Amino acid sequence: VNLIGEHTDYNGGHVFPCALTIGTYMAARKRDDRKLRFYSMNFDNLGVVESSLDEFTPDPDGLWINYPMGVMWAFEGRGMKLESGLDIVLFGNIPNGSGLSSSASLEVVTGYMLKDIYSFNVTNQDIALIGQYSENNYNGCNCGIMDQFASAMGKKDNAIFLDCNTLDFEYAPIVLDGAKIVVTNSMVKHSLVTSAYNDRRNESSQAHKDAIKDEVARKRGKHAVYENQRTIKAVKALKENDIETFGKLMNASHVSLRDDYETSCPEVDVLVDEAWKIPGVIGSRITGGGFGGCTVSIVKDEAIDQFKANLTKAYEEKVGKTPEFYVVSIGDGPSRLA
Ligand code: ADP
Ligand code: MG
Repeated sequence: VNLIGEHTDYNGGHVFPCALTIGTYMAARKRDDRKLRFYSMNFDNLGVVESSLDEFTPDPDGLWINYPMGVMWAFEGRGMKLESGLDIVLFGNIPNGSGLSSSASLEVVTGYMLKDIYSFNVTNQDIALIGQYSENNYNGCNCGIMDQFASAMGKKDNAIFLDCNTLDFEYAPIVLDGAKIVVTNSMVKHSLVTSAYNDRRNESSQAHKDAIKDEVARKRGKHAVYENQRTIKAVKALKENDIETFGKLMNASHVSLRDDYETSCPEVDVLVDEAWKIPGVIGSRITGGGFGGCTVSIVKDEAIDQFKANLTKAYEEKVGKTPEFYVVSIGDGPSRLA
């Protein structure tokens, strides 16, 4: 989940995400032939999906195996050939398509599994870059590096202050005395997320060239520049134990994403507006690519019940849906379980 620094990664700015203890689990074994057989417990209606090491063409309907296949294709493209096929089973407990990057988690676990099973010489940072490359070039989403980096490089109880231009990073301990990170799922999935996301990326690169003439480009550029400043200030505030300032910067990030970058949506705005009214809420904003998905909030322990009750009531009244809440913990990056 990203605490602050949204849509700044592909704009060469700073981000401040952390890995969560929810994630994706994968078991794999080598085969004697070149077949690839996939089974996801999250898509059990699809049963076992078969492909092979000779079929690296993305499924046009966006079948889920495009993600692990894309990672394998990217490994092969870097000269790391898979000498045998695989049987793979997986299960994830990250809600899909909600801005918590289940796709990046799936890419990272695939890369980590390949490294482990074929003894490839790659670092976790390489796995993040390979994941981004495959999502860009195999899945057609021009995402930045943030999600894969957070998933691959995560550290328990720390967020990652990452300069997406240079990939310089530092871990910053998240010590929330008497407060928790609460993720709220709007349960809204916009079907055009990938195209809208890619539009933003194009519009903001336009803003670098043509900032003044075009109003849309100006707003997109304004967000990218100020959001980067907010992220730097937020990390500084956190280091000084000034969580109140951190929260105010989160709120300002939301306003900017809502009004200038225009990647929020009315449903998510209801959740954020309602959260802002509660005295025990330190900060609340949309997180992830946007157009639906989740909000991230820092909520004092004693206000969590009220937070859930008030947001549920307002959301049911105004949107007609029930949000889901996850009180999350910050976890490590990938590891081998057995
Ligand atoms: P997000 O990354 O925000 O969760 P995306 O649309 O980028 O949303 O990625 C979600 C897609 O990733 C799913 O539709 C599916 O194709 C794939 N995916 C993620 N987790 C799993 C899983 N456990 N099993 C199979 N596919 C998965
Ligand atoms: Mg994704």
